Amino acid sequence: MATPYANAVRKGALAAGRLHRRFGLRERLEASGGSVNVFSLISQLDLPLMLRPLDGLLGAYFNVPTKGILVTTQRRLSIQRFTAAHELGHCELDHQISLDNEDSMLRRMPTSFQPAIDQQEVEADGFATALLMPKWLLAIHMKRQGWTQPDLRRPSVVYQFSLRLGVSYEALCWTMVRLKMLQQKDARALLQVPRRDLKQALLAEYRPQDYRGDVWLLTERDAGGLVDGSRNDLFVLKLTEHSNGGYLWNIDELRASGFVIVQNSVEAADQRSVGDPGLRRVTAFPPDEFRGRMILEETRPWDASQRLSRLELEMDMSGPEEEGLSRAERRRRLEAA
Ligand SMILES: [Zn+2]
Repeated sequence: MATPYANAVRKGALAAGRLHRRFGLRERLEASGGSVNVFSLISQLDLPLMLRPLDGLLGAYFNVPTKGILVTTQRRLSIQRFTAAHELGHCELDHQISLDNEDSMLRRMPTSFQPAIDQQEVEADGFATALLMPKWLLAIHMKRQGWTQPDLRRPSVVYQFSLRLGVSYEALCWTMVRLKMLQQKDARALLQVPRRDLKQALLAEYRPQDYRGDVWLLTERDAGGLVDGSRNDLFVLKLTEHSNGGYLWNIDELRASGFVIVQNSVEAADQRSVGDPGLRRVTAFPPDEFRGRMILEETRPWDASQRLSRLELEMDMSGPEEEGLSRAERRRRLEAA
């Protein structure tokens, strides 16, 4: 028999599924990859949302005199997104006013299998989790990246997975447990690994000033996809390079678009044979608040028209959300003006 807790999670998940269908999100994300843009959804629903420094609160939902949402400016983008999704859940499920602090929300990932403390809060968490991490979206990313279930026990994989979904590493670990993609003991082991160690391993010898930003590992598998990140984030590009055929990845295109290259090298991908392709490894900072397309081509330096491969990515590195209206709402108003 389903417990009241399971029923509340399910009620939230059903409401999230209705919203996915209403906006055709599955079809869109199957084509583009990337994450569910909850701020854009809220804007399209014409639900007022403001970002503010909120002492001790992550967010709030008001239903009187009119419906509205507040989200903190004092947390990273993944937490702002989860909070916005939770508050949207309150609205979609016709809940009463809710003031959501860290204790109540982040510790009660919809996955802690405790009896429900508060029906409406569990429903909103179930909504947020299902909205941002539906099983079909996890499957889209796993297929694109070639990840299989055993890979989900690798911290480096889970970290890159969480970036692509726009959720925290913790939230993804517990959601995978709930979806029976991961065992609880494996989730606990994953949570023991400091994120800083994962970033350091990716950056190899490069040492940034601090490790607040995320480090995206981008490969040919991300081509045509969408990267939704924040201002301090870094990229490590790992690309197969066919230098044996005279082809090199043209890093000058990156520099010309304002990226700062802090590391650039070629590793032999395979030691067995001299003729095998190498692995180009580039570490770069995007320009400040970068929004646009990153294009890289593998060409012969003396004949750029002979293109062997191309990596094209849509990027928005202007997160996290700042005080005032969300970025999605500001853009919508600009377009309407
Ligand atoms: Zn709440």
